[in-house]
Amino acid sequence: MERKMNRKERAKQERENRRHNISLLRTIPYPDHQKWWSSETVALVTGANRGIGFEIARQLLLQGVTVILTSRGTEVGEAAAKVLWETGLKVVFRQLDVTSTSSVQTCADWVQQNYGGLDILINNAGVNFNASSENSVEFAEQVIATNYIGTKNMIKALTPLMRPSAAGARIVNVSSRLGRLNGRRNRIGDVSLREPLECVDSLTEEVIDRTVDAFLEQVKDGSWATGGWPQTFTDYSISKLAVNAYTRLMAEKLSDRPEGKKIYINCCCPGWVKTAMTGWEGNISAEEGADTAVWLAFLPDQSVSELFGPFVRKINCEMEKKSCCSGRSCCPSTRAVRPVATPKEEPGVTVKTPKAEDVKPEIITEVEGHHATAAVKVERKEAGNVAAVKKEEAVKVNVGCGGGACN
Ligand code: NDP
Repeated sequence: MERKMNRKERAKQERENRRHNISLLRTIPYPDHQKWWSSETVALVTGANRGIGFEIARQLLLQGVTVILTSRGTEVGEAAAKVLWETGLKVVFRQLDVTSTSSVQTCADWVQQNYGGLDILINNAGVNFNASSENSVEFAEQVIATNYIGTKNMIKALTPLMRPSAAGARIVNVSSRLGRLNGRRNRIGDVSLREPLECVDSLTEEVIDRTVDAFLEQVKDGSWATGGWPQTFTDYSISKLAVNAYTRLMAEKLSDRPEGKKIYINCCCPGWVKTAMTGWEGNISAEEGADTAVWLAFLPDQSVSELFGPFVRKINCEMEKKSCCSGRSCCPSTRAVRPVATPKEEPGVTVKTPKAEDVKPEIITEVEGHHATAAVKVERKEAGNVAAVKKEEAVKVNVGCGGGACN
């Protein structure tokens, strides 16, 4: 008789299943016939001298594109580039401080002169001054200036340089799930500030800036602690919330570009990653942390247009999948897995669509784009029969979820 697994063994088994599912998901964008990029494709990564940025640059290089590794420090940037050269990856180095508009403009001009434009922009540079669970806003201005304003500086200077192509140019903002607008524990308490950010119809750059400025004002006058701001990593959370909202806003602004001139923008959370930022705590390596941004950068055109705008959670956060909610319209409640296909209808039988939480990673059997097939228990109720019949059935589901600033 088969021995029952104990708790530890079950947890191990679940971890292995999870890893297996993640590895399946990682293969999504790379079948040869879907590769739209070549060595002519030019990508730029900010804050790439170390951590996740370095890994993003390396993984982009492994796919054969031309990569400009940028770093605010010349020495550390050159050293990072040297490491890549030593492994045969011919990266190009350029100094860039995202908080300096002149540095950003000089870099943009250089890209224009040397490459005639850009195809992929990864805004990865970021700072955080909180360790572990401690919370402080001592460096709030610097955190906002780097994470939010720096990202904006890059998008404003480089969007005009994004080259026309059939697949569309890509912008990926490396953000954080700490910046989710409707996270249960870490949300903005002040409804008058939160609501305008929640819906893309009321979302403007001024709305985002006003929120950030209100926060910085309260930091200055010392009232931030009672201002209803996120309770964890407050300044960092606000900076990433602004990044998420700005991504969503830009997705809306860029949405009416004609075919051939599309620019797709998304933001993602890399997970909790062992880098200098987390004091090498975290539960995944920089290599794993980098892959969501790379995946978003390389998505085949038909999938990227579906994903346009949303916040993509790290695939191994909780739901173990990458994906999105569908749209740019306001969707505060659409988190997690959403079944996209209801089970087969039968005459005289009511069929209840499975709930998001029924779709556990380990029951996913097949992945295609950001849809997956899962065997879910489906409830069928025959007319006049009080007892519901539960039956395992494979249904298509939309995996993972986010929802931009609305999430
Ligand atoms: P690191 O601290 O290892 O790397 C941050 C990078 O950003 C460094 O290269 C740093 O350069 C650079 N940087 C900071 N300020 C500037 C600036 N003004 N101009 C240009 N570059 C700058 O952190 P991670 O690799 O962990 O973080 C990368 C991104 O991932 C960040 O945006 C972070 O917020 C995000 N993230 C990370 C998580 C994690 O668990 N690690 C979780 C969620 C999000 P320098 O070496 O000069 O300081």
